[in-house]
Amino acid sequence: MVGVAFIMGSLRRSSRGMQSGGELILIGIGLIALHDILKGMSAETSGVAGPYTWLIPAIQAMYMSGMLFLLLGIIKLMKTATRPGNSEGRFHSLARVAADAIITIDENSTILSFNQRAERMFGRPAETMIGSKLHAIIPARYRPLHDAGVAGIGRKGGAPFGGQTKEFHALRRDGREFPIELTVATWADEGGRLFFIGIIRDITERKQLEEDLRRMATTDSMTGVYNRRRFLELMVQEMHRAHRMLHPLALIMLDIDLFKRINDTYGHAIGDEVIKSLTRACTSELREIDIFGRIGGEEFAILLPELRREQGLEVAERLRRKIETLEVEANDRRIVRFTVSMGVAVLGMNDRIPELFFARADAALYHAKEDGRNRVKGD
Ligand code: GH3
Ligand code: MG
Ligand code: MG
Repeated sequence: MVGVAFIMGSLRRSSRGMQSGGELILIGIGLIALHDILKGMSAETSGVAGPYTWLIPAIQAMYMSGMLFLLLGIIKLMKTATRPGNSEGRFHSLARVAADAIITIDENSTILSFNQRAERMFGRPAETMIGSKLHAIIPARYRPLHDAGVAGIGRKGGAPFGGQTKEFHALRRDGREFPIELTVATWADEGGRLFFIGIIRDITERKQLEEDLRRMATTDSMTGVYNRRRFLELMVQEMHRAHRMLHPLALIMLDIDLFKRINDTYGHAIGDEVIKSLTRACTSELREIDIFGRIGGEEFAILLPELRREQGLEVAERLRRKIETLEVEANDRRIVRFTVSMGVAVLGMNDRIPELFFARADAALYHAKEDGRNRVKGD
């Protein structure tokens, strides 16, 4: 709270013109640097689900305030550039050391300045960019949006994206796209000409980290298929969809037969190879829309959208026959073969929660085991 009060106070002072643009930029750079350090620390020490999760919005707020200071400072310098002094020189020297790309354009999208970080980020020297259009660094699909945005601000005034930071993609010289975070501010000179300043941060690493974390949270690391939690989430969605559209939905529960014996005979590592081999076989056999998850040690579940009881039983039987033929080689060259039992259930009118639907497929699986294993049973 003290931090917010300080920032608000500083903003108010700065808007009254008591602080120079250079100071604002320095505060902005300082806040952004502090954000980078804290973010790095919180990622290293706690991970996303650690005890400091509450810090993330605060750190993000710090970044946003930093950006705001940076923009205010730069605009101030640009505005006073025509007055005596060397504000423009100061702007350029600050832009040179900035950790983010800073690009200014006029209302025709002609580039007026392109800092060193922008040169590195886009792989284009400033001298080839200044005077040319911004479009070279905007992927084709965003160009109409960009043009409309620039024209819209020109007519209505106001801040692009309502002053918010937005995520887009930008284009490198070699045509590759990369994810960016863009903050834009505008100002008009005495003649009413409009200018835009964009601060661009390359967020490739952050996106990669987010993707890794998302994958870790939703998939099983050994097999790469959905984990139990994600499977249940997708199951709730599929059940809602099937009820809403009055479409059929089949569920298979699959359990490896006498798996303890495989572990005991060949060792745990070979047991793992058996699980992986089964996963590969099922994945290659299933359709794109089927949902396949590892819900326990050697237990799997498969959701088959649009399939009725008979079709669900057919898919299960096809999988059973394929799995029967799989071979895993043990360390001593012995060939390990294995079988699975499966229970199949179809979504009923009264199945509103996954547990009931699961329970019926599980009961059918139990019958398959009781009946001698290596077989498929319907509920
Ligand atoms: P059943 O035919 O009745 O299913 O017999 P089973 O031996 O397969 O019995 P159960 O399903 O109870 O045994 C599961 C065993 O799977 C117990 C556990 O040690 C083993 N297991 C669970 N997860 C893993 C794993 O990730 N790797 C290996 N190698 N073994 C696992
Ligand atoms: Mg089991
Ligand atoms: Mg088993």
